[in-house]
Amino acid sequence: MKLTVIGSSPAWPNSGGAQSGYLVEGTGRLLLDCGPGVLARLRNGDGWPRVDAIVITHFHLDHWGDLVPWAFGAAFGPGRHFEPPELWLPPGGSARLRALGVQLGFGRQLEDSFRLHEYHGAAAFTAAGFDVTPTQLSHYDELTFGMRVTDGERTLAYSGDTGPTPRLAELARDADLFLCEATLDDPEPAERGHLTADEAADAFRSSGAHRLLVTHRPEELPLNSGLELAYDGLTTEV
Ligand SMILES: [Zn+2]
Repeated sequence: MKLTVIGSSPAWPNSGGAQSGYLVEGTGRLLLDCGPGVLARLRNGDGWPRVDAIVITHFHLDHWGDLVPWAFGAAFGPGRHFEPPELWLPPGGSARLRALGVQLGFGRQLEDSFRLHEYHGAAAFTAAGFDVTPTQLSHYDELTFGMRVTDGERTLAYSGDTGPTPRLAELARDADLFLCEATLDDPEPAERGHLTADEAADAFRSSGAHRLLVTHRPEELPLNSGLELAYDGLTTEV
């Protein structure tokens, strides 16, 4: 199983960076999140993304925004010549995508550009040949999931966006690679939705995962304490 970090920026882009997008390759090609800047990166080399399935962790723009240009390219551009990828959305996501499409003046174009599915709570599903298990996490009042992806031999856990919760360590339990956000310098004073680097490291230690890769980190907040930081273009075996 191979992981390529397409975009690792937080809710605002780092200099020259793309927002959330992680390509997992094995028997198929699975894209975890599709934030602004991801489509252009995926077009490098391939002309149009050769992706079997896309999984969206939640509906904040930095995790789904490039579905909009993707739909345009699928309707009027080079995407016309490609089979639409599966698009796995959080519960209720199909209606939400439809409503967003109407609000943005696209009619059904947004939803018609993908083969829509919704995942349900903690029920595992198969996408791009991988077994994917969602876990609901804590991201303010937004319904948000982390994803555990396995090919039966290797396992990647991806936090998406979350504040501290014991479910994070469960998500990453004994995983080969834990891709975990660390957006903050200090904890939010009230409702939690992101992690500090120390909190990401705590979840990693509790999980028993083998390797921690920190992501969704503003470049203004350098990472200390020897943690491994994801960067756009990083490719690694899981
Ligand atoms: Zn985010």
